[in-house]
Order: sequence, then structure tokens, then C-alpha cells
Amino acid sequence: MYACPRCGKTYTKQNSYYYHVKKFCGIPPSFFCPIPACQFKSHLKCNLKKHVINVHTNFDRTGERLGYKL
Ligand SMILES: [Zn+2]
Ligand SMILES: [Zn+2]
Repeated sequence: MYACPRCGKTYTKQNSYYYHVKKFCGIPPSFFCPIPACQFKSHLKCNLKKHVINVHTNFDRTGERLGYKL
């Protein structure tokens, strides 16, 4: 197990641990959920996409109507 010395996040894979420390830790996430009431943010576009699909099941219809783009 690898724990980030800065934020305490733990990783089982050394690769993801290094990736986190070097690229993500202390850097604000750059992808935000386009649903205004939702606070979800992520460093990775694919995570945001997954979130939108999993959590906002009506996204396709709503998103189109409101002009959101992923
Ligand atoms: Zn960290
Ligand atoms: Zn959301």
C-alpha cells in the first residue's frame, strides 16, 4: 500500500501512486460535472464521463437540451 504524504490518499499500485503525487496532488481538478446542482469534480475526463453516465442517467436528454458537452 502506498500512501500520499500530502493528502493521505492510499494506492495499491505504485504506478497510480506516483501518478497521483506527480500530476494530481495539490492541483485542483479541472473537470467539473456540468449539472449545476452537482459538486462532482475530477482530474480525469473519463472519470467525469463515468460519473455523469452513472449518476445522471437522464444526462443525454438533459444535456442535449441544456447544451452541455463532454
Ligand atoms: Zn495526495
Ligand atoms: Zn454530477
